[in-house]
Amino acid sequence: MPVSIQNPVSERKWGFDPPPSGTKSSLRHHKMKYCSFCAQTVSRKTLDGDTHQRWVCDGCGHIHYQNPLIVVGCVPEKDGKILLCKRAIEPRYGYWTVPAGFMELGESQAQGAARETLEEACAEVQIGHMFASVDVVDAGQVHLFFTAKLLGDFAPGDESLEVEMFSEDEIPWDDIAFHSGRYALKKYFEDEGENNGVHIHELRRAKS
Ligand code: ZN
Repeated sequence: MPVSIQNPVSERKWGFDPPPSGTKSSLRHHKMKYCSFCAQTVSRKTLDGDTHQRWVCDGCGHIHYQNPLIVVGCVPEKDGKILLCKRAIEPRYGYWTVPAGFMELGESQAQGAARETLEEACAEVQIGHMFASVDVVDAGQVHLFFTAKLLGDFAPGDESLEVEMFSEDEIPWDDIAFHSGRYALKKYFEDEGENNGVHIHELRRAKS
């Protein structure tokens, strides 16, 4: 039987903070109506030996698995300052973020983090070690952050209004776009350049 893995979140935006408490919609699964292979209707079913309900095609039997997506990002550093991008896209237009985005098929985590930095900040980096992992449970995403060395120049890419270097004292903490990025930056500075392994954090919507 054919299987597929799909994005459980309808909008492909990595910067997903947990929905506010009291929000009705659940991101446990993303609604589907029709099979993307044969265009017939799908139904929610728990199959023998499985633990979760799935969207299963009523026609061809295709199981449309929905699983979390991986976001990779990095903190590019040079001469004690780090690079941040001011977002030119929603969500959080005008807020600052480390370069990050969804992994693409066929690339490693480090390649993804470097590619996102090239896209958002026109900057080449040498990726270091992973230092933070954030489960954004209600968004169905895992955000992974790496240290990085900035190798050359930088400039705003299409998704950035500005790109700037900040010392720790200069970080615009109130204008950081997302919880996961703020957590990563806090841990980055706490580590003071040491490799202290991976700091693990979990973001969930508050129970209402
Ligand atoms: Zn089908």
